[in-house]
Amino acid sequence: MSKQQFKGISTLTLHTASHENDNFSHTTPIYATSTFTFDSTDEGMERFKSTDKTRIYTRWGNPTFTAAEVTIAALEAHGLKNEKGEPLQLKALLHASGQAAMTTLFFSNLSAGDTLISHYSLYGGSQELMQKVLAEAGVNVVLINIKDLDLLETTLKNNPTTKLIHLETPANPTLQCVDIEAICKIAHTHNVKVSVDNTVATPYLQQPFALGADFVFHSATKFLNGHGSALNGVLLGKDLELMNTKVWKWHVLLGGNSNAFDSYLLIQGMKTLEIRMERHCSNAAKVAAFLENHPAIAHVNYTGFASHPDHAIASKQMKQHAPLLSFELKGGLDAGKKFIDALQVCTRAVSLGTVDTLVSHPASMTHYGIPRDERIKYGITDGLIRMSVGIENMEDLEWDLTQALAKI
Ligand SMILES: *Cc1c(COP(=O)(O)O)cnc(C)c1O
Repeated sequence: MSKQQFKGISTLTLHTASHENDNFSHTTPIYATSTFTFDSTDEGMERFKSTDKTRIYTRWGNPTFTAAEVTIAALEAHGLKNEKGEPLQLKALLHASGQAAMTTLFFSNLSAGDTLISHYSLYGGSQELMQKVLAEAGVNVVLINIKDLDLLETTLKNNPTTKLIHLETPANPTLQCVDIEAICKIAHTHNVKVSVDNTVATPYLQQPFALGADFVFHSATKFLNGHGSALNGVLLGKDLELMNTKVWKWHVLLGGNSNAFDSYLLIQGMKTLEIRMERHCSNAAKVAAFLENHPAIAHVNYTGFASHPDHAIASKQMKQHAPLLSFELKGGLDAGKKFIDALQVCTRAVSLGTVDTLVSHPASMTHYGIPRDERIKYGITDGLIRMSVGIENMEDLEWDLTQALAKI
């Protein structure tokens, strides 16, 4: 069976990367090396000429990175076809962090005078990178309510210099979802490319390339790694020519490469992506229902609820609902602090997508850098609590939430 034809996600994450290596190691070797040797000048010249740049210098590529890259590319392309009806081929570039991958994405697609359109309620670091770094580099950054497709049309007409639309769906931490397919259709009629931050959904729940996306981005630090053991980011594209030339070149010149150890940890983590996601998702549905029915809770943001404003879009473009939720206590910020401090099983930490449940307070942590009135406009209120639901046993999670809510 060709690797392109694996029917299931777990087979794919276990067997896509090659097991071949000089010393018959079963797991992917950690190639902790900055450079690679040549037997002769001629051989060195051949490697420089080749499109495979993984055995020259680690900033350019490294076999441990390749194992992670081919696995993520296979995940995002799983079951998809190109225009000719052949299995979709993607190119993935592994980076040191999500932010590094986003930097390559933006700088390889945008230069001074160009416009980037994005939306409210993005991950804090994405919004700051746009509004601080890109804006200072001369890129016109326009954030709109992109769910309003007429507004998107008008914004595109008013900004003929637009080169890229960047989406994050579901967004962290409000779980806002936007219609990838509808936005890609509009963008493409204006010759504008679309990138999608697929960190929260993972390719297990959502495949943006099936919906028309040109680039997909992941903070692989989150669900792909799954264990909170390393930082990584990945940028994927379906225009292989562009990915192998300009995007690869910018990646190498900006210097945001990963390292062999973190890349190895990512490879190990991805092997259990499917079974972790199944448990994350079923636990999240139960935790959301438990919180929704608790008298101390004002409201819960969870796309699995029919009452969530983006429930229909989320159900259309995701296989199941993402295991991330946020909620507000009736007692506001004070009650929220007491609740977080009383937790005994859940972990108090930022980040998301680890095997254990993480609880954080966006206003004082991840979104501290965003002005208060701006973040409140997007739904990141002072009392909002974010929960990335882990794979613990439900009895223990329920026990913990019950006892912590009794202490507020
Ligand atoms: C964490 C995160 C990022 C940034 O990734 P790092 O790996 O921390 O650099 C970007 N987008 C989303 C949605 C995230 O959750």
